[in-house]
Amino acid sequence: MAPPAHSLPDLSFEQCERVRYARDPAYDGRLFIGVTSTRIYCRPICPVRQPLSRNVVYLPSAAAAEAAGFRPCLRCRPETAPHSPAWNGARATVGRALRLIEEGALDGEQTRVEQLAERLGIGARHLARLFRRYLQTTPTAAARTARVQRAKRLIDGSDLPMTEIAHRAGFNSLRAFNTAMLAVYRMPPSRLRRARGTGNAASTSSGRPPGIGRTAEDQARASSTSILPRTALE
Ligand SMILES: [Zn+2]
Repeated sequence: MAPPAHSLPDLSFEQCERVRYARDPAYDGRLFIGVTSTRIYCRPICPVRQPLSRNVVYLPSAAAAEAAGFRPCLRCRPETAPHSPAWNGARATVGRALRLIEEGALDGEQTRVEQLAERLGIGARHLARLFRRYLQTTPTAAARTARVQRAKRLIDGSDLPMTEIAHRAGFNSLRAFNTAMLAVYRMPPSRLRRARGTGNAASTSSGRPPGIGRTAEDQARASSTSILPRTALE
């Protein structure tokens, strides 16, 4: 089989396949599965039927999956995958950067990647290099994905009006929010809300897998306390 167009910097396709078939939660948030036949991307723990290997690519970040044209699965909800796994060395810097981005460091009109890099004690070009190498994306694209993910968690986990969700998720306007959600999910936020909990818009199965139907607050807590094996990918 030809090597996949997308791959992870430190995991072979075969290793990723083992993770996928085991639905190994240790890799949740560290790799994402793009299914080329459906153009949907999933977490390793996704409960839906396993796609054929020839229809699968592996990606190191949600932003990379979205840049490659995949939309998030409505069953396993990549926006609820744990962030900032326990990384060492250069990847720890990437993890810190992601955490700051998740907290809104690149939201708003005044924010700049240079300032984020400065907070991390490195140059903006080095930060861009690290993102390319480990996440196959840019800090700006990661920030866009973070805003979309924040909004999606609020759509699923609250009954807040869309204007409020757009604001809380870090978008500068309702229009920017609608455009971003449509680009990533291929459907407007109102339809995402109607589809919440069923996953019907993205798969033929119904019902939530155990542990997936948590609230945004639960997810935020789970993300910040999640502990992954430090040596899993070393
Ligand atoms: Zn999925």
